[in-house]
Amino acid sequence: MAVVIPIDLDAAMRAASAAPDALILAGGTDVMVEVNAGQRRRALDSDTVIVLDRVRELRRWSHDPERRTVTLGAGVTYTELMTEPLASLLPALAEASRTVGSPQIRNAGTIGGNLATCSPAGDTLPVLAALDADVHLASLNGERTLPVGQFMLGVKTTALTRGELIVGVTAPVLRGAQGYAKVGVRNAMVIAIASACVIVDEDCRDVRIALGSVAPTIIRCPDAERHAAANLDWDRGRATPGVAAEIGERAAADARPIDDHRSTAAYRSRAVALLVGRLVRRGFPDA
Ligand SMILES: Cc1cc2nc3c(=O)[nH]c(=O)nc-3n(C[C@H](O)[C@H](O)[C@H](O)COP(=O)(O)OP(=O)(O)OC[C@H]3O[C@@H](n4cnc5c(N)ncnc54)[C@H](O)[C@@H]3O)c2cc1C
Repeated sequence: MAVVIPIDLDAAMRAASAAPDALILAGGTDVMVEVNAGQRRRALDSDTVIVLDRVRELRRWSHDPERRTVTLGAGVTYTELMTEPLASLLPALAEASRTVGSPQIRNAGTIGGNLATCSPAGDTLPVLAALDADVHLASLNGERTLPVGQFMLGVKTTALTRGELIVGVTAPVLRGAQGYAKVGVRNAMVIAIASACVIVDEDCRDVRIALGSVAPTIIRCPDAERHAAANLDWDRGRATPGVAAEIGERAAADARPIDDHRSTAAYRSRAVALLVGRLVRRGFPDA
């Protein structure tokens, strides 16, 4: 087995182009579970492993105060997302990161790995969807940028093509409350049974709502978002409990949950209605 350890993006892209079926390894927190569970044939499907954790461009992040955006390299870890100043720039992403696994998983696991795995329960994904983030991809054939909603195609299915790498993601820095919450079978080290992100953009007076674990991939809730924009008391930053609950119910109506070994569709619907309602109330306390 060849193990390629590039130290810059150009070398990583050349390696991925030379071995388009190579196993791409970032933090390994999804890959090694699959290997241990025998979901990958032999130890690996390919005879080449490309290790990304030393690729310097992927480890960086930058803040552009004029454009009010943050660009995160794909190799930025959950622990880094929880650390200042990133935590204040993208608070919902920090909140989602705090719910991921254990300290060891948060130290190793990356945002690029979460995106590439594209589980409906991936904790950063509802936040990136609610932020309308852009995903940057690159291969030797060129670079392209996709809205995250076009990158995530279904259960563990993305728009990544052979030989292509996730380079990073750009998200807006917004003024307004934002939060992420999930429900699981216990309080820590848990995969979401249902999750929700609510992002308020005070400047545009709009609310973005995204849900996880209640459809084949992350979904936005346009009806609930429109209802929120029209019914929240923007001047006073308040909402009646009835308005918050209605926004939650409308979000749940957009969900397409299923029964599986973790939960039932009915429980998931109820959970997202409550999570969204609570997140709205957190940003817009009782009138
Ligand atoms: C004990 C445990 C608890 C966990 N808890 C949670 C949780 O609470 N919430 C949650 O969302 N996840 C959880 N996970 C899953 C995992 O930690 C995350 O999905 C993590 O973000 C994966 O990142 P990674 O860097 O480890 O990816 P890896 O395992 O290295 O890779 C994952 C996939 O992404 C591909 N990949 C990685 N980087 C790139 C790139 N730059 N370009 C193209 N492809 C790439 C790999 O080829 C692979 O297919 C948990 C895992 C474990 C083992």
